[in-house]
Amino acid sequence: MPDRYLSFTGTAPGRFLTRRLGLPQPAALHRWSPDRPALDGPLLPLTAGPSALDLAPVLARTGPAVDPAAGAARPAAVVLDATGVRDVDTLAGVHAALHPVVRSVAPSGRIVVLGAPLDPADHHQSAAQQALEGFTRSLGKEIGGGRTVNLVRLTDAGAAESTLRFLLSPRSAYVSGQVIDVLAAAGPVPPADPGRPLAGRTALVTGAARGIGAAVAETLARDGARVVVLDVPQAAQDARRLADRLGGTALTLDITAADAGERIAAELPGGLDVLVHNAGVTRDRRLVNMPAERWSSVLDVNLASVLRTTDALLAEGTLRPGGRIVATASIAGLAGNAGQTNYGASKAGIVGLVRSLAPRALAEHGVTVNAVAPGFIETRMTAAVPLFIREAGRRMNSLAQGGLPVDVAETTAWLADPASGAVNGQVVRVCGQSLLGA
Ligand code: NAD
Repeated sequence: MPDRYLSFTGTAPGRFLTRRLGLPQPAALHRWSPDRPALDGPLLPLTAGPSALDLAPVLARTGPAVDPAAGAARPAAVVLDATGVRDVDTLAGVHAALHPVVRSVAPSGRIVVLGAPLDPADHHQSAAQQALEGFTRSLGKEIGGGRTVNLVRLTDAGAAESTLRFLLSPRSAYVSGQVIDVLAAAGPVPPADPGRPLAGRTALVTGAARGIGAAVAETLARDGARVVVLDVPQAAQDARRLADRLGGTALTLDITAADAGERIAAELPGGLDVLVHNAGVTRDRRLVNMPAERWSSVLDVNLASVLRTTDALLAEGTLRPGGRIVATASIAGLAGNAGQTNYGASKAGIVGLVRSLAPRALAEHGVTVNAVAPGFIETRMTAAVPLFIREAGRRMNSLAQGGLPVDVAETTAWLADPASGAVNGQVVRVCGQSLLGA
């Protein structure tokens, strides 16, 4: 179901008319492609307050050319190091740094604010650092033009390199208004070809025959992974076709089978590096009209099977040290959605699973556990939504458009990167900064 409004506002008369009527102005987003893999302009580094971060060598490797004089031109990215903000006085440095340059940031440009973890022993520092969150989210809502604004909390610039590379690239086109903690012990990062960070790794994606899962499989394969495309028997043909195209294998399996984890383990005697729990279903009804079967089928696919297979693959040792688990939540699990008590419960359950398991899985197995929480993504699932609700879903976010499956896939690929070991227990929304659950 193409977004005709987005196409219309891409034309000169469409732009004129929608501007005159005060209607949303979605910009054509710059997404990654082999022809245009990087942002189109320099990176402007700024600082607010004193900083102890050794940022320069990391920024030099993240993509855009660093140019401290870029404020006078049109920076495609701005990185504001605000880790030294400790009180309301030093917080003023955030305004002082960004106010003069925010107007000149290029369309589809990036602003990344760097913050420090909140210090429980210092309520002035905590207030000032928490203030960065409200600042980031507010700027994301007003900046427009396909630009994004995100906050990364970190203590070690090197451990955040993969995260900065992602946020400062076209791969993060639909990720805005997010607060990402990069605070876990990173562990050793094996040297990797930056173009193929997953080379030599095996990734399994559930529900990968179509939609978001297929895009995840394609993106992980692009990054060098050998992919296993898992889907139900009814989707076996699509799964096989995709696996053949990607040089991977298809695994026909209903993920709700009690022994699904054991069957995956048997299929992968050499082990698994990346496990993406993507399979998901909706069976919408208001609670008052919802039979128990609609409740249990959604909870079983979206949550119980994720818990079961994760437990089995960790217990069997199939997930190797350095492994990555990426589960799929949803903004419906954060904000709630009428008609989706079952789905909202299942996706909120994913958030609980990630937060609880992440520290233990890293300590005991060397495996990180994170979630992506898609907003409105253009797939068969959302094409089935009634017209007016679909239009509202598309427009009610800071970028005023739906995301594409590849946006979720790129976010998954960043979390799956061997260099992302310091990103653990995070729930990253891929929602264009949706107003729901903001
Ligand atoms: P989709 O319906 O297009 O694809 C889901 C895939 O999962 C299908 O190939 C299906 O056969 C497979 N699947 C379903 N049950 C399965 C089972 N028991 N075992 C194995 N495979 C099974 O959905 P999508 O839009 O691509 O969504 C993918 C994920 O993203 C889901 O978890 C969904 O809840 C989540 N999500 C989607 C959106 C969106 O806007 N599309 C928003 C938020 C979250």
